[in-house]
Amino acid sequence: MRPTSIPEATAEEKQRIFSQVQADIRFPEYLKGCYECGICVAACPSARFYNFSPRRITQAVARQDIDLVWEQMNGEVWDCSQCFSCLRCPRGNNPGGVITILREVAVNNGLGTAKEALEGYGRIIYKIMGTGTQVSPDMIQPEAFPDWGPETKATSENLQLWRKALPPETLHTTSTSWDVAPKTLTELYLIWHLTGVLDMIKGVDPNLHAILGDVMEEMLEEEGYQV
Ligand code: SF4
Ligand code: SF4
Repeated sequence: MRPTSIPEATAEEKQRIFSQVQADIRFPEYLKGCYECGICVAACPSARFYNFSPRRITQAVARQDIDLVWEQMNGEVWDCSQCFSCLRCPRGNNPGGVITILREVAVNNGLGTAKEALEGYGRIIYKIMGTGTQVSPDMIQPEAFPDWGPETKATSENLQLWRKALPPETLHTTSTSWDVAPKTLTELYLIWHLTGVLDMIKGVDPNLHAILGDVMEEMLEEEGYQV
């Protein structure tokens, strides 16, 4: 969801943020110029539903319009659904990739816009990092999905039975999508730690970061890792 307000920032601050976008190793690969042809907009599902345009963003970044890019980082970029249909750009750009960089820079700098946009995803991040899977069968509850019809209630009431009917034993789970080995989970956690993902989370949601640390510390010790 798009945040609602655009904070004030000095020209120096906008330039500092924009320099981080340009310094990203993927930047020259993702943006080579722009014909303003609008093909990315025609392919973009988000452009059909929001006042959103990958062309507008690509153009602003290509023109180094730091005021407009700042505005977009505090709004428009969060409307992208990261589907990458815009990869059909005839100039060889990756507008969705440019938007990914803008978002990551927003997160790395702890911008309010990133915090606001990611607010609703805390539970999902916790689930992925705490269990190794994003959704779990026990999330299928009739009150959560009232539009799914009466089967939802029947499924939720017999969940363990349904799951046991699935051939791979790793799927006989209800609180995670599948059984993730503790070793895999700790290795995933170490990757997130060493690549700076956890620092990004700390910047946007310190409470979630603390909870994840508590959950994982014990597991890491049991698996013989020291962080
Ligand atoms: S498709 Fe490519 S060249 Fe055309 S407007 Fe979009 S980014 Fe620019
Ligand atoms: S990745 Fe983003 S900008 Fe590109 S088509 Fe998908 S929603 Fe649109």
